[in-house]
Amino acid sequence: MPLYEYEPDGDSCPFCEGRFEVLGRLGDEPLGACPQCGKPCHRVFSSFAPIKSSKDMLSPKNLASKGLTQYKRAGDGHYEKTCGDGPRVIKGD
Ligand SMILES: [Zn+2]
Repeated sequence: MPLYEYEPDGDSCPFCEGRFEVLGRLGDEPLGACPQCGKPCHRVFSSFAPIKSSKDMLSPKNLASKGLTQYKRAGDGHYEKTCGDGPRVIKGD
């Protein structure tokens, strides 16, 4: 069972102060309130969401999966396509 992390929206009790974790089943509706004091809270996704580096974001594979086209400068004012749709080479003048 995954541990879900929650954060109070405003007021909190000793239980939900800061952040608290609740064991839940996959597919459970997220809690909207602290189980102790009933004050509003929201789920946070911090601990295990991997942060993609900008290098990954700009990799040809990632760009292509987003339907984007990337060109890299190939010297002499022309660009070669690294991924996506479009002409293989663009000539600038
Ligand atoms: Zn509370």
